[in-house]
Amino acid sequence: MKPVLDEEEIWIIECIKEAHIDCGFHIRDVIKKAKTRYGLSRSTVYEIVSYLEFHGLVRTNESGNRVFDQNVSYCVTCPGCGKEIPENEYIKENGRVTCEECYLEEHQRIKFADPVAVRSKKLFRKKYGLEGTDGLTDLQKEVYRFIQAEGGVTPEKVSKLFGLTPQETRNQLAILRHCELVKWRKMGDEMYMVPFDS
Ligand SMILES: [Zn+2]
Repeated sequence: MKPVLDEEEIWIIECIKEAHIDCGFHIRDVIKKAKTRYGLSRSTVYEIVSYLEFHGLVRTNESGNRVFDQNVSYCVTCPGCGKEIPENEYIKENGRVTCEECYLEEHQRIKFADPVAVRSKKLFRKKYGLEGTDGLTDLQKEVYRFIQAEGGVTPEKVSKLFGLTPQETRNQLAILRHCELVKWRKMGDEMYMVPFDS
């Protein structure tokens, strides 16, 4: 059975791979790297290395050196969604490990209150004679019509109704905001998107 590793264990594997020379790796080099880069203690490194040994990822060769076995496969748990990802499919960025979906979701973020985006959107739309919902995607038009009809909706409601992830919803609403078609309004304890001219 493939072992499922957590983030710290992946960090250690990265350190081991870097510390690896032809005849194997020395745990001292791994401890140094893990400490400076991730702040992991010596005992944590030992504990994780023995766990990797247990799963056959690390073994001792004929010369008595520890080696990392590239042929043993493992999985990683995505800290974003909890999904198990095979070792060759995870994405590592600034020490964080995520699955591709969570990575994309994270990088698709469009800033909401973005004066530059509003201005450039306005100029672009003026140049091409676009007004109202002209030039928007069908989805954006539908979301906008829905907000107009309701007078105000929460992003959660938009997500649910249009089958979008929270991040997709935020992106779509950000675009409507940049076109000055909608704006935020606090009603009670909740934030609503309302038509811009309301
Ligand atoms: Zn994920």
